[in-house]
Amino acid sequence: MPRGGWGRQGFRAFSEGFVRLSAGCGVAKVLRAEGAGRAYGGGVEVHLVPCLKDNYAYLLHRPGSSEAIVVDASEDAPVLAELERLGLTPKAILATHHHVDHVGGNEGVLARYPGVKVFGYRTDRGRIPGQTDFLEDAQEFDAAGISVKALHIPGHTLGAVAYVAEGAAFTGDTLFAAGCGRLFEGTAAQMYESLNIKLGALPDDTRIYCGHEYTVSNLRFAESLEPNNPAIATKLAWAQAARDKGEPTLPSTLREERMTNPFLRVAEKDVVAKVNERLAQDRSPQAVLAAVRAMKDAF
Ligand code: ZN
Ligand code: FE
Repeated sequence: MPRGGWGRQGFRAFSEGFVRLSAGCGVAKVLRAEGAGRAYGGGVEVHLVPCLKDNYAYLLHRPGSSEAIVVDASEDAPVLAELERLGLTPKAILATHHHVDHVGGNEGVLARYPGVKVFGYRTDRGRIPGQTDFLEDAQEFDAAGISVKALHIPGHTLGAVAYVAEGAAFTGDTLFAAGCGRLFEGTAAQMYESLNIKLGALPDDTRIYCGHEYTVSNLRFAESLEPNNPAIATKLAWAQAARDKGEPTLPSTLREERMTNPFLRVAEKDVVAKVNERLAQDRSPQAVLAAVRAMKDAF
């Protein structure tokens, strides 16, 4: 299996410090990455598994437990290797959406671990290999001893889901660091609601784990819209340095996204001004998002 640009080694999300933007001032400082869910008694460890060219799968487990959740089994070989390396047994696969770069490893994981449950949105029935559970919006379930809530976030696809657990949100290709997915099935209005209303209701310190390592190119686009936003410039420099060292730029936080992500900043006057000539009478935030998305498609 070609592994594209990734090294062979998986990343451990919480074993090292991350440079983080400090809220409000846009100045980078080094903060120790906190263990996930510290306040929840035990918490959850999140392991990043680079797959394909620039995808991430994620492994979640409680410290001391050998049971794991796989989010987006992009391809089977690296996911199986990382499960083995960590001594974990998967109990569930959570699919954020039906695209093959997010579910292409389902069958391989199921072949090695029969009986693993596969969660996805109810309307993705027939499109997610091995799907056993057909979720509704806001449905809660337990897997590997972890409570998870599914949020239906259409836009990139109509059946896209974010999985929220222990202060983390796994957002697939709907919310990226500093960007959002292309509108393959949904509308700009749906994407606006998914990003700004549904995900927008989560707390500022929610850690954002998305489906692809697109952060640097997304921030370059964001900088073209808001050249005077210091948070974007600061995070771009940090993200470039991280990628130069082969390190992931994830997780982000919702706070950082609110400071840097143009699709969460469609009410900012600098962003509106940049797309002004593309707007007709409709100057709603949904129309601004549509215009920004069209610009990004051509960036
Ligand atoms: Zn996708
Ligand atoms: Fe994808």
